[in-house]
Amino acid sequence: IAANEDIRRRIRTIPDFPKPGIQFRDITTLLLDGEGLSLTVERMLEQVEGPVDLVAGIEARGFVFAPALALALGAGVLLIRKDGKLPGATIAEDYALEYGTDRITIHADACAPGANVLLVDDLIATGGTARAAVRLLRKAGATVRQAAFVIDLPDLGGAAALRQDNISVTSLVA
Ligand code: IMP
Repeated sequence: IAANEDIRRRIRTIPDFPKPGIQFRDITTLLLDGEGLSLTVERMLEQVEGPVDLVAGIEARGFVFAPALALALGAGVLLIRKDGKLPGATIAEDYALEYGTDRITIHADACAPGANVLLVDDLIATGGTARAAVRLLRKAGATVRQAAFVIDLPDLGGAAALRQDNISVTSLVA
């Protein structure tokens, strides 16, 4: 069997969500399957390069994988949240959507200067979200060298763009 076929087959595609023409990769079926979940976390861990002080998960599906990786790595978890959710002083980064912009935030004091941060999300498409996350973490003084995803949609160019930002991009399923 092809690499990670056991993970791929546990992910379903929902047509026309959230709008017509979009083929939405739905990982809820992977998460519901205990073996699928543990295989996913194990293989993501195998791809981790270098020291990790903090695993930064992007709201919301990045929050599923970040703690699993962090516990195994002996690292902490840094939550990258949508605007307006964090109670303390924040720093923010905006990124372009097809229509309009979106904003992600972290607490201004979330990471010590030079902390090694591994970025995690379920999926990279255009890379807009992950690239904004890297800018935000670097603005906070973090050292960000790797971003780990379950799914890469390479035709959308996000992983290639992130590599231009000097990030090592890893994924399990394309
Ligand atoms: P990007 O910013 O275009 O790379 O989109 C990635 C972000 O949108 C991630 O936070 C994903 O969780 C979410 N996303 C985009 N497309 C999908 C999909 O097909 N399935 C699940 N999440 C998606």
